[in-house]
Amino acid sequence: MHPLLSKCQSVVDRLIEKSNCKTTHDALRLNHYVWLALISIPLSIIFIIKNFFAGNYSIAAVVVMLMGSMIASLFFITKVKRPSMVYHATNCLFLVMLVLVSIWGDKSEGQILWSYMYPVLSIFLFGNRLGVQWSVLLLVALLVSLVMNGNIDLAQSIEFEIRFSIIYLTILSVTSWLEYYRNRYTDEAIRQRKTLEKERENLEQEIDRRIQLETKLKRLANHDSLTELYNRRHFLSRATEEIHRAQRHDLPATMALIDIDKFKEVNDTYGHPIGDAVLKSFAKLCKQSLRQTDIAGRIGGEEFAILLLHAPAEHARLAMDRFRQQVSEYPFQFEGLQLNITISIGLSAIDDNTVNVDQLYAAADSALYRAKDTGRNRVEIGRGPIQK
Ligand code: GH3
Ligand code: MG
Ligand code: MG
Repeated sequence: MHPLLSKCQSVVDRLIEKSNCKTTHDALRLNHYVWLALISIPLSIIFIIKNFFAGNYSIAAVVVMLMGSMIASLFFITKVKRPSMVYHATNCLFLVMLVLVSIWGDKSEGQILWSYMYPVLSIFLFGNRLGVQWSVLLLVALLVSLVMNGNIDLAQSIEFEIRFSIIYLTILSVTSWLEYYRNRYTDEAIRQRKTLEKERENLEQEIDRRIQLETKLKRLANHDSLTELYNRRHFLSRATEEIHRAQRHDLPATMALIDIDKFKEVNDTYGHPIGDAVLKSFAKLCKQSLRQTDIAGRIGGEEFAILLLHAPAEHARLAMDRFRQQVSEYPFQFEGLQLNITISIGLSAIDDNTVNVDQLYAAADSALYRAKDTGRNRVEIGRGPIQK
């Protein structure tokens, strides 16, 4: 589209947006009307000037009225409830103008031939049904006015009227036929676009549903359902990644294995459900005490592991000893009863000889055994190869 035309179209589009058009068809009709009005303004001016200088003042006056009403209609078309009433009013004026032009105009100049454009314009504006009705009405009005106002030789006049009517009806039929096909394809395109939009909506919903499902599945696959901490598999996989990263950047990291002391007794004394609740509360406490960068998981029944990043063994020992103390003093309360637990912790820090997570885990595990053997409720550092 030419830039000037597309600029005009965007002005027309804004006008349509402001209007009361409810359907695509209504918007299309309004679009046609505004374009016709815009095009008719310069044409009317030429017509007015020509008729004025030719001394056809009455014709010039009718065209001035038509042009004025068209310009005025552009200002209030967006405010009226039914824009079609404005089309009809303007069209009535146009029809009257064509009849008057053919009556008052100089017949030797063939002013009546202006009427040939009417079927095209009326179908363009009103669509097939109304456009054809208006066109037939104009044809009848013209023929009546010609017969009643014949200042041409009668024989010539009848021959002319027949020829005129045939051409007029041919234009009307072809335009109507083209409009019919245009409507068919427009409706088809609208239907297809609606189907496509519906399909796209369904697809988007399906994608959302699958994303949610995938997130849920991932969570289920990676987390322990009781404590909401990472499960053993995911903890070890995350720990492997972080250990490699720490080794690459020569940063310290320490693994802590935690085992609740004499947990069997908790179950035996208070029952398994209370044991579960203790595990849950312990995990919560664990999460609260961790730094953002630390990774925690439930390794087995009442065994947990934490990978403390950026923490050399001695720092980790201090931090875990604080945590051990906190747990031992924490009152676990359920259903009116209160109980205390203690934990034993084994630590192992990465060093130049650490090959993998299993090695780090084994060293922390043996430290944990030592903590158990030497009286529980304590922290032991693994005697692996040289500690950092
Ligand atoms: P220790 O100090 O030597 O670790 O003694 P302990 O009793 O904690 O150790 P042991 O390995 O003998 O017993 C662990 C207990 O943890 C046994 C089991 O009933 C309990 N346990 C494991 N998983 C769960 C669980 O999911 N819920 C509950 N309530 N108890 C569990
Ligand atoms: Mg155990
Ligand atoms: Mg235990």
